[in-house]
Amino acid sequence: MDELERRERPDEHRAHSGEDSPVFAARGLTKVYGTRLAPIYALKDIDLEIRQGEFLVLLGPSGSGKSTLLNILGGLDAPTSGTARWRDHELTGATDSQLTQYRREHVGFVFQFYNLIPSLTVLENVRLVAQIANDPMTPEAALDLVGLSHRHDRFPSQLSGGEQQRVAVARAIVKRPDILLCDEPTGALDAETGRLVLAAIAKVNAELGTTTVVITHNSAISGMADRVLRLSGGRISSEDRNPKRIPAGDITW
Ligand code: ADP
Ligand code: MG
Repeated sequence: MDELERRERPDEHRAHSGEDSPVFAARGLTKVYGTRLAPIYALKDIDLEIRQGEFLVLLGPSGSGKSTLLNILGGLDAPTSGTARWRDHELTGATDSQLTQYRREHVGFVFQFYNLIPSLTVLENVRLVAQIANDPMTPEAALDLVGLSHRHDRFPSQLSGGEQQRVAVARAIVKRPDILLCDEPTGALDAETGRLVLAAIAKVNAELGTTTVVITHNSAISGMADRVLRLSGGRISSEDRNPKRIPAGDITW
């Protein structure tokens, strides 16, 4: 089966958490900010495929284009040129409402800051997303996955930063997204609580088979990944496959 044909029939591979079929394919992705006279190239001609169930880490210094790439993957932003496609969703050229639908049905986001609703409890924060999803798991199950069953009735301000971020992970995965996109999820956390957040993300990847992309500038985290892409100046400067993934709990920084 050639690559194109494989992408036409992705659902045959859905149950695998293996490396068979690309669920995401980008060609020549370029993103330019600034003006015509003073262009800022955030991404330069990126080609990328991501496979079902893959755990990808995007490494690179500040300004290298990581967030821009993640935002295009997640339908939050559009490239200046090039194409991006998620299964049968052509993301380039999609209307705003098509992108909104793509995000709502398929994408879970986790950002550096947790953005929980302060006046709602932990359970209510997660339930809010479950209520507008097509095929959610229960909020209780999502909180159980991230190890926070005992915190249902707390308010965000009563939790540590790491716990709040795990609630954010539960909120992102309660709708059973196809892809979980995490932009510097441990950026505001100390190493110990950061490891717990990474362990929660790895568990979701392992148990639900959720294709996962984690952005970091912390190279210690790269050991968790199936594959590590380094970005530099808007280009992919290296790509490595880990023969064996390191458990989050064993990562030190
Ligand atoms: P990273 O996430 O790796 O820090 P970004 O993707 O945020 O990098 O940014 C890549 C480049 O694009 C940087 O030079 C940044 O200043 C620029 N950039 C990102 N977003 C914008 C924007 N909205 N307007 C202008 N320049 C931007
Ligand atoms: Mg960024």
